[in-house]
Amino acid sequence: MSHSYHKQLVFTLKDRCRVCFTCVRECPVKAIKIINGQAEVINDRCIGCGNCVKVCSQGAKYPLLSIPEVERLLSSEDKIAACIAPSFPAEFEEIKDHRILVGMIRRLGFDYVTEVSFGADLVAQAYENNMKEKRIEGDISSDCPAIVYFIRHYHPEMVGYLAPLASPMVAMTRVMKKKHGENLKVVFIGPCFAKKAETNEVDEVLTFRELRDMFLQRDIRSDNSDPSDFDAPHSGKGSIFPISRGLYYTANSQEVIPEEHVVIAEGRVNFKEAIKEFEEGDIRDKHLMLLCCEGCIMGPGTSPGGKRFVRSAAVGKYVSKKLENIDLNAWKQELAEYSKIDLSQTFTPEDRRLAPTSKEEVIKALNAMGKYSAQDHLNCGACGYDTCVEHASAIVTGLAETEMCLPYAIEKLHDSINNLNVSNEKLAKAKAQLKQSEKLAHMGQLSAGIAHELNNPLGVITMYSNILMDEAPEGDPVRDDLNLIVEQADRCKKIVSGLLNFARKNQVTMNETNVVKFSEHSLNSIVKPDNIKVIFEPRIADPNAKLDIDQMMQVLTNLEKNAIEAMPDGGSLTLGVEGDAEEITFILSDTGTGIPKENMDKLFTPFFTTKEMGKGTGLGLALIYGIVKMHKGKIQVDSNSDPLVGPTGTTFRIIVPRGK
Ligand code: ADP
Ligand code: MG
Repeated sequence: MSHSYHKQLVFTLKDRCRVCFTCVRECPVKAIKIINGQAEVINDRCIGCGNCVKVCSQGAKYPLLSIPEVERLLSSEDKIAACIAPSFPAEFEEIKDHRILVGMIRRLGFDYVTEVSFGADLVAQAYENNMKEKRIEGDISSDCPAIVYFIRHYHPEMVGYLAPLASPMVAMTRVMKKKHGENLKVVFIGPCFAKKAETNEVDEVLTFRELRDMFLQRDIRSDNSDPSDFDAPHSGKGSIFPISRGLYYTANSQEVIPEEHVVIAEGRVNFKEAIKEFEEGDIRDKHLMLLCCEGCIMGPGTSPGGKRFVRSAAVGKYVSKKLENIDLNAWKQELAEYSKIDLSQTFTPEDRRLAPTSKEEVIKALNAMGKYSAQDHLNCGACGYDTCVEHASAIVTGLAETEMCLPYAIEKLHDSINNLNVSNEKLAKAKAQLKQSEKLAHMGQLSAGIAHELNNPLGVITMYSNILMDEAPEGDPVRDDLNLIVEQADRCKKIVSGLLNFARKNQVTMNETNVVKFSEHSLNSIVKPDNIKVIFEPRIADPNAKLDIDQMMQVLTNLEKNAIEAMPDGGSLTLGVEGDAEEITFILSDTGTGIPKENMDKLFTPFFTTKEMGKGTGLGLALIYGIVKMHKGKIQVDSNSDPLVGPTGTTFRIIVPRGK
């Protein structure tokens, strides 16, 4: 008889998944795929062990539910038998008398309620005979369906070593059908998910949790149900099957199999290791007794939170009580009667191993996670895979994602935070600049208005004071006063024209120019005191650029004048010209007093000056700012005014596009 294995056993509630990767870690066959940060069970790879359901704290995985099918069977005309797995005392620990539980199950509408452990008795006998015959050669127990799937899919070469025997559930089904006819429908009730897809011989499989749900729905309780005993055939030692080493105890009744001929491994890590070592040949002469869970009593279909040893003790207690009261003759007679039924089972290999991944692809996936050398392989297991290489090959096969790597994700987060900080800084700078521009625009409007209004009256004052001066006789003291008026009126005119310059909104007129000659010329057009050394340093390969020559000349001469004014006791003024394909940079350095830190952000504000009355207007840098902006350029200032920190002085850099 071969297996059908197409039912999906575990389903995923995607939006409940909180990407902890615990299911990936706990899945013995890596049947869980992470797509867009959400876990999904791949049915083809799943062995139905139910680990993922057990460990998911968010309830994002749920098993195939069979209650509706069972309800349908129960409401049909057919005779229905409930075959209860021998782990029931572990699950229904609170019901001290098993007959109450049997009574409760009968109330659901089952015609027969029997123990699967009679099937276990038969199967144990068959194992014993098998082991007696094959004393030299080892084999692998086939009573746990998850183990059977695991071998068929992931160690297909080992399928021939599976004991060719039916599971206790199937054996019991065959017994019941022999006893009550082939039309009998059989519902197995136990602790296991994988059983739901084990065979077509059993009509439906319920878990203990589902059984509890059915009781709840119909308000069937231990205090409102009558006791009733299991139907025949009655079992013996087979009841101990579901606890750790259960198969060994029951199958070794005549103590013909020495302990050292047996390897007992349970749980998702141990059973895999045992199979691997068996496959490698080291323990090929041993009988492997394997269970996917830590004994069926901890199966995923049991209620969560059960204590393993309390459960084990409950089964033990039930068995010893049963063996005390057993009618040995009747039992042996029934065993003999059903020993003739066919207990064979064949298993076919069905390779579901993934194609091997190429080394290059794995390395590429590792690199994508920032892992370049062995030191980068932290093997922290946070992704659910034991090693970084395993994770990388899972990425290559499409089962995993790069983002699952925790160290990588943390590093990426740090990068993002840094980038964010940089953007924030940039934003703050841009904001400050914007504020400055706005301020300048307002100032510009205001000053243009004032300048325009002042220009005419000033002209009148200048003209009349000049006329008066011409008319005043030589030596008249009024002449001195008039002279002062003319002088101050001139000064006013200068301020006004400065204001107009600052405020003018006209566009730049770009002209091709040689910036080296141009800047050298700017140095010649200012008055340089003797105590100031002027150094010209052109460092540019291609001096040709397009600038508004008149306005840019104002920029340079204003900067030069400021520099000279900052060096009343002498010093040196250096003008450098640099450039690349895109930009021209004028660098003007002086060894003057420097600009105190607190003045730095006021420099470009109109009328900001530190110079004494009559000397500075505070419009120079504001004007420069406007002109450079019109050239789509920028200004940088570095200055030190504290002799304790280092030599004092200021450097202005004017950076403008080549304008080509
Ligand atoms: P003004 O020269 O009329 O004072 P500016 O706008 O040209 O107006 O300059 C504003 C102020 O910036 C100056 O008063 C001075 O305090 C400061 N400043 C400008 N350039 C320099 C420099 N090279 N060294 C020191 N301080 C400077
Ligand atoms: Mg100035």
